[in-house]
Amino acid sequence: MARNELIEKTLADAMEYARTFLHTGKVATYIPELAKGDPDRLGACIITTDGEVYHAGDWRQEFTIQSISKTITLIMALQTVGYEKVFSKVGVEPTGDAFNSLVRLETKNTHPLNPMINAGAIATADCCMDSKDPYGGFLALTRKLCRRDTIQLDGAVFESEKKAGMRNRSMAYLMRGDNILEHDAEEVVDLYFWMCSLSVNAEDLANYALVLSNNGVDPRSGVKLVEDWIVRIVKTLMVTCGLYDASGEFAMKIGIPAKSGVGGGIMGTVERKMGLAVFNPALDPKGNSVGAYRVLEYLSHYLGLHYFSGSGCAV
Ligand code: GLU
Repeated sequence: MARNELIEKTLADAMEYARTFLHTGKVATYIPELAKGDPDRLGACIITTDGEVYHAGDWRQEFTIQSISKTITLIMALQTVGYEKVFSKVGVEPTGDAFNSLVRLETKNTHPLNPMINAGAIATADCCMDSKDPYGGFLALTRKLCRRDTIQLDGAVFESEKKAGMRNRSMAYLMRGDNILEHDAEEVVDLYFWMCSLSVNAEDLANYALVLSNNGVDPRSGVKLVEDWIVRIVKTLMVTCGLYDASGEFAMKIGIPAKSGVGGGIMGTVERKMGLAVFNPALDPKGNSVGAYRVLEYLSHYLGLHYFSGSGCAV
């Protein structure tokens, strides 16, 4: 298939639409280094299963992957210790609470409710510690999924988060006390912070999303990168828990399995069709990127990308 003019035009229009909302958001400041983000930056990338790449705006701009890494941590945890062990430590239900909430660890049960919130990702990072090279393995997996060998750590964000990450540390100690974590709490949160601090751009995440959309196979190389059963779990959790406590609203209005991060990224995957990623550091009160949310909203509406789109996908 040749380049699709409808996608090109709709993406350009989506960017224009989204820009009118950017002033309503604020960059994250609880990790001091993230406060340096420019709320006016907006970039996007769409890659279709036939290998066409569509770029817009500041798509080259790098940002930290933050919570989008939780999907890769889950893949690595499942590959390392298997289904039974991962889901003996963490559940699969949405919380309705903020991403960094501790409250359910005490009141609901001691296990984090799902792997897409901080507590759950700290538990899956603990599972990754069983791998023979947790850091190297995670970096290699991220590079492979994003199709870029030069992905690196943003050391400044990593250090900043290590200094500021007291809530995450508290969760780790609580879970260590309850024997959900099997390794030293400090070592596990360090790995978790490190995973969140890899520096990516919109194209990297669109490549990764494309692999998820195509059942774990990179459609360009034909290489199987993630097992079917793991892809199914990750995409299901993206639907139910991918946008913090706005996941229900996002599912209803936009209907694209997606994961957001406080660095300003949202990546989304349209079954057998495309991977998408949008970046804008202006966040709404729930921690989702205002610009990215609006670009995805527009694309979903005008390209018929909602998984229950009545009129079907337009591309
Ligand atoms: N590293 C961030 C934190 O733990 C990730 C949060 C996010 O992107 O939701 O607070």
